[in-house]
Amino acid sequence: MLDADFFRRWMAATAMSVDREADRLTALDSPIGDADHGINMKRGFAAVRTTLEKETPDTPGGVLTLAGKQLISTVGGASGPLYGTLLRRAGKALGDAGEVSEAQLADALHAGLDGVMTLGGAKPGDKTMVDALVPAVEALSAGFAAARTAAEEGAEATTPMLARKGRASYLGERSIGHQDPGATSSALLVAALTEAAEA
Ligand code: ADP
Ligand code: MG
Ligand code: MG
Repeated sequence: MLDADFFRRWMAATAMSVDREADRLTALDSPIGDADHGINMKRGFAAVRTTLEKETPDTPGGVLTLAGKQLISTVGGASGPLYGTLLRRAGKALGDAGEVSEAQLADALHAGLDGVMTLGGAKPGDKTMVDALVPAVEALSAGFAAARTAAEEGAEATTPMLARKGRASYLGERSIGHQDPGATSSALLVAALTEAAEA
């Protein structure tokens, strides 16, 4: 079972890897965006970490709901409301249980992903974070490591895609040949689950 501490470790591990990979995320957002994705993610998850240290929600749902709210209020770009929705919806789905199973986490992330797709209107194949999150959530039933691999492969698979949502879509055909920054940060978020589980 996964308790609130697991979810705190997940958010902290995400903050660390987003911090470490910020330059790469921003570089990916340069040819097909406005070169701020690393900055946005770094700011957002740093705020998540600070808030979770100050307020200490004692349920998994509480941790994710607070993290999602924080992302929405601190990240100006498209990714803030989208990641915020993912985590807030997932948090809501977990309710006020003190511990949740991996299957409940998978269901909650499924609900969060539905929220992302409703808010942003992106479908698989549109070259967005959805392309990493959909295969990751599907693979979660096979464990965190499988989800991590699926997310990384999903992110890499965005390279030949034509962007149909977000800033990259303004480039039309010229968006082809670049990996999507948001799909790349989603792979970091999913990979952080394995780190939280190891701790
Ligand atoms: P902005 O584009 O506002 O500068 P970011 O650079 O932080 O925001 O985030 C860009 C990422 O957000 C994209 O790489 C993509 O993965 C994701 N994204 C943008 N629009 C959408 C959308 N409508 N649905 C899903 N994801 C989206
Ligand atoms: Mg950007
Ligand atoms: Mg921007």
